[in-house]
Amino acid sequence: MSSGIRPPRFGAGKGQIPSTVSELVKLVQKGEIKAQEILEVSLQTIAESDGEINSFNLVLHEQALEDAKKVDASIAKGGFSGRLAGIPIAIKDNICTRGISTTCSSKILANWKPPYDASVITKLKSEGAIIVGKTNMDEFAMGSSTETSFFGPTKNPWDKERVPGGSSGGSAAAVAAGMVPLAIGSDTGGSIRQPASLCGVVGIKPTYGLVSRYGLVAFASSLDQIGPFASCVDDAALLLDVLAFHDEKDSTSLGRDRYQSGNVNIDVSSLKVGIISNFLPNAAESCHQAVTDAARVLANFGAKVDEVDIKELDYAIAAYYIIAPAEASSNLARFDGVRYGLRVDGADVEEMNIKTRTEGFGVEVKRRIMLGTYALSAGYYDAYYLQAQKIRTLVKDAFNKAYGKYDLLLSPTSPTVAFPLGSKVADPLSMYLSDLYTIPTNLAGHPAISVPYGIGEDDMPVGLQLLGPALSESLLIKVAKMLEENNTDKQDN
Ligand code: GLN
Repeated sequence: MSSGIRPPRFGAGKGQIPSTVSELVKLVQKGEIKAQEILEVSLQTIAESDGEINSFNLVLHEQALEDAKKVDASIAKGGFSGRLAGIPIAIKDNICTRGISTTCSSKILANWKPPYDASVITKLKSEGAIIVGKTNMDEFAMGSSTETSFFGPTKNPWDKERVPGGSSGGSAAAVAAGMVPLAIGSDTGGSIRQPASLCGVVGIKPTYGLVSRYGLVAFASSLDQIGPFASCVDDAALLLDVLAFHDEKDSTSLGRDRYQSGNVNIDVSSLKVGIISNFLPNAAESCHQAVTDAARVLANFGAKVDEVDIKELDYAIAAYYIIAPAEASSNLARFDGVRYGLRVDGADVEEMNIKTRTEGFGVEVKRRIMLGTYALSAGYYDAYYLQAQKIRTLVKDAFNKAYGKYDLLLSPTSPTVAFPLGSKVADPLSMYLSDLYTIPTNLAGHPAISVPYGIGEDDMPVGLQLLGPALSESLLIKVAKMLEENNTDKQDN
């Protein structure tokens, strides 16, 4: 089997681009580097590598240049304090951008242009970020490999015969390949953390409600969260800080004041860390090893590290594959040939609806709609949906009990390193199992971060997952940063 080679970070070998976003923003604000020059680096890298990788559904050459010029002009005029001044960013293609296609990588929305921006887009623009393009994904965010996209799969930049993970595979690959320093994705059951892990970048799934979902095309509304991708913990933390604001357009939005950003005072030597032991037996050797290595580093700093068996989490995946499809079957009912996107004509309205949905949706989306409709149908609701909701409560309670004892939990992000393209498409169940370790967090609404931790089988990157209680992002970020600094496999380019 082929093996991985670390791709260069953003700007490597292309002029004076520092390795972190915050340093780059400072240079832009001082007028020492122009937003236009940074954009040029991004567009050039995309031109060089994306033909093969396919991480972008759309690159916004002209619009991005206009936006970069605006940032440069306001800096020349006397200053601009935007926290992401001049930073190119890639946006997952299920996040609405006004007048710019937002396809969810589906044929049904292939030509749809939203009439409004998602709240996160408005925010990113106001902070001076330059939106470079829309990234490829599994259709409607259903998948773990970015292979269900109507626009063809994205390839893993470490090894182009492998998947980048999914569903936000385009965003993860764009950052991993150095096309952009930052990207955003969405995580319903692992779609930020799992591709981050498989592509060797950092990904954060925030606490449910911390980041506005207004303008995110809904998959499973009680689980969906938007979050950041970056090549290091600091950059991901900076982006999360920008994304975390109260939004009255999202009824589940939390107050920003509930979230403590930046430097919290944490003494690692007083931390209690639990390794989720029942996750380990089915993890690949390198994924298991990453957890053992991280535990040793934390113990060396004085943290108390224990193993904890949280058996309720083993049922999370079964409950998720009832709850998420159930919500999806309801959310996707709006794609009916009337209100959005594709219409295939028929003799009457019903035939038009059927033809539109038959042609517009791919196999996996249809599978989810059928599963969800079945689980919600009269006579089966109690047997499936209600039971799944009960498991969701058990999972939440089990986590909360564990957080009574531990400050944070550790696990691999994914059971394996990136797998070969095509190897799981014919077996949905094995694809679903890629999210074994990420799904429980979504059911609980808690935050988790995936940080690259070592190189595993076939020289592919391994991700470590840090999980914490609601609104513990600052703690997770701080510990992830410490582990990043003590990771023997440091980024060397
Ligand atoms: N892979 C999971 C699924 O297919 C999670 C997807 C996601 O987080 N969007 O549902």
